[in-house]
Amino acid sequence: KIELADAKKWIESFVKKLEDEKSTLNELDTAIGDGDHGTNMDRGAKAVTDSFDKKEPGNLADLYKATAFAMIQKVGGASGPLYGTAFLDMSKAVKEDNLELADLIQTGTDGIKRRGESDTGMKTMIDVWQPISEALKNDKFNQQVIDDALNSTKDMVATKGRASYLEEKSKGHLDPGAQSSAYLFESLLEVIG
Ligand code: ADP
Ligand code: MG
Ligand code: MG
Repeated sequence: KIELADAKKWIESFVKKLEDEKSTLNELDTAIGDGDHGTNMDRGAKAVTDSFDKKEPGNLADLYKATAFAMIQKVGGASGPLYGTAFLDMSKAVKEDNLELADLIQTGTDGIKRRGESDTGMKTMIDVWQPISEALKNDKFNQQVIDDALNSTKDMVATKGRASYLEEKSKGHLDPGAQSSAYLFESLLEVIG
C-alpha cells in the first residue's frame, strides 16, 4: 500500500522527470510518431504542479483525481486521455479499504486498455504498465523489470496509435509512451524502494 505523503512524492517526482526528459520523449516520438510526446507530457506536468499548488490534495482519491484532470485537460494527443483514465480509475479504486498497490496499478492498466482498446504486444505504454502490475503482485518490482518492460517495446511492431502507421518500420525504436510510463514507475520505485 502507498500512503498520501508517499503518493504525492511519487507524482511530484514523475512530473519532474517529465519536465527534465521533455526532449528525450520528443525525440522518441519523432522517430515513430509526430514528435510531441515530450511537449504534451511537459504541459501535463506543469498542470499537475499548478493543481497541487492551488489545492493541496487531502486524500489519495483527490490526489489521483487532480492528476487525472490535469492530464486530461492539458496533455492532449492520445496519451492525455489514456493517462487521465488510468489515474481517474485509480482515484475511484483507492476509495476501497486495503487496496494493494499491485491492484491499484492493475486498475490503471485496465483503464488504459479499455480506453485505448489496447493490450500487451501492441508497442504502447501498456507494455510497461502490465509487466509492472504483475511484478508488484509477485513482489518482484525493481529497476530491471522497468528496463526490461521498456526495452521489450523496441522490437515490437506497433499496432495501436500513430506508430502503427509505420507498420514494420516501427521496429527498432522504443515506444515514447512506454518511456514516459517507465519514468512513472521509476518514480514509484524511488518512494517505495
Ligand atoms: P499522439 O500520438 O496523439 O501525438 P502522444 O505522442 O502524446 O500522442 O502519445 C503517444 C503514445 O501514446 C504512444 O507512444 C503510446 O504509448 C500511447 N498510445 C497511443 N495509442 C494508444 C492506445 N490505443 N493504447 C495504449 N497506448 C496508446
Ligand atoms: Mg505524438
Ligand atoms: Mg500528437
